[in-house]
Amino acid sequence: MSTEGTGTEGADASVETFRGPVAEPGATLMHEHIFGLSPEILWNWPDIPEGWDLEERAQEAAGKLNDLKAAGIDTVVDLTVIGLGRYVPAVQRVAELTGVNIVAATGLYTYDALPPYFGNRGPGSLFGGPDRLAEFFVRDITEGIGRTGVKAGMLKCATGRQGITPGVERVIRAVAQAHRETGVPITTHSESSTRNGLDQQKLLAEEGVDLSRVVIGHAGDSTDLAYLEELVANGSYLGMDRFGIEFTSFEDRVATVVAMCERGHASRMVLSHDSYCFNDRFEPEVVRERHPNYHLLHISRDVLPALRAAGVTEEQITQMLVDNPRTILTGGRRP
Ligand SMILES: [Zn+2]
Repeated sequence: MSTEGTGTEGADASVETFRGPVAEPGATLMHEHIFGLSPEILWNWPDIPEGWDLEERAQEAAGKLNDLKAAGIDTVVDLTVIGLGRYVPAVQRVAELTGVNIVAATGLYTYDALPPYFGNRGPGSLFGGPDRLAEFFVRDITEGIGRTGVKAGMLKCATGRQGITPGVERVIRAVAQAHRETGVPITTHSESSTRNGLDQQKLLAEEGVDLSRVVIGHAGDSTDLAYLEELVANGSYLGMDRFGIEFTSFEDRVATVVAMCERGHASRMVLSHDSYCFNDRFEPEVVRERHPNYHLLHISRDVLPALRAAGVTEEQITQMLVDNPRTILTGGRRP
């Protein structure tokens, strides 16, 4: 796989970003969000304190990303899909203001029912007609999102505590179909407490997906090494991607990555925070108080030093931050 050049000479060896294809994503955070928005709330109660001003929020987000760039991170994957308030024109403005590459995603985030637009169409629905999920996902990847021309470089589906509900099943099958048509990799939101990354793998495999093209997101919420070993044995990457969210402690999150490195799995993990530059769904003050390290710089400032202190090598850190993301995003074969 070529990683040389400007990234315009071969779709297979480059990753789509908000500024076009990039051949060498560099150090990459594989699960972040720029903006999480609630459009219907913002339309109707525009004067709430957490309200939205595109230019102001874009400047603020770019400042955070520029700090991240200074800390050595080159690329973030923005896994904000339908259901999380994806608004690509706003992220496009951020991309103009920062040197960090941002990868867009497509897919749908629900733990249960589909939004009515999709739920009232398609197989088994009240009004019938074509299932437009896969069609829309493919359009985001091949033509671009909305009228922006920004192409999605990652597919996403989610499973919560309820497991694979009929709505979630439709999303996962549609994501698999879009993956088969386009080759774009898949990441998931999984619920580690019920080990349902395994159910996601089973359904994706049934849909003909090569599980080495899949990141089981939020696997790092788990400290159950047997569960993580099973996910790895099935071929997928583990998203150790919620550093800073305190329901699993910093110490436990670090110890789990260390243990999996010791077991030889640095080639199967990616790191991230699942953070937002701005998210109207959380009370910012409460989040800062309860999760003081829930921000984009936590890995660079705190996690990497803790991993090194526990014996994780530079080579393993490079695998998790640079090599694995490049392999996943550019569709390369795993070494
Ligand atoms: Zn997320």
